[in-house]
Amino acid sequence: MRRSAVRIRSGPHHPSKDVLILEKMKKRNCSGCDECCRYVAIELDKPTDQTDRQNIIWFLKHKNVKVYIGFDNKWYLEFSTPCKELDRKGWCKDYDNRPQICREYDQKDCTGHSLSSAEKVCFTDSKEFKKYLEKKKIKLS
Ligand code: SF4
Ligand code: SF4
Repeated sequence: MRRSAVRIRSGPHHPSKDVLILEKMKKRNCSGCDECCRYVAIELDKPTDQTDRQNIIWFLKHKNVKVYIGFDNKWYLEFSTPCKELDRKGWCKDYDNRPQICREYDQKDCTGHSLSSAEKVCFTDSKEFKKYLEKKKIKLS
């Protein structure tokens, strides 16, 4: 497992030539948004056996947890939990000392600035994951 990108709050993305994306960007600039400081996502090994699948079911039985497959075909475990450095106005209280992962986040990667979702497949509870396995004809026992 390794930690996935944490998205940091920064200024609006530069205009794109694509008009549709530009329209979307107008609606979703960073102003008033702090979503990228409100979760932690880590990469998971793709589940290949029953232990892996049972672990995913266990993850999904917890509140504020989701598992998703990104468009990079990697599996991720995400905890919805705000960073302790986030202030009430949505600003970083320790911006000068923010972790490297926050510094490296490229705002262009934010799905708030594109027409696509970050997730190809997303599970927010164990039932959804079980249905996915059924559809794939993967048995759980
Ligand atoms: S989630 Fe996207 S739009 Fe929101 S603050 Fe982060 S980079 Fe900006
Ligand atoms: S350290 Fe600052 S920039 Fe990084 S996640 Fe926390 S609030 Fe956001």
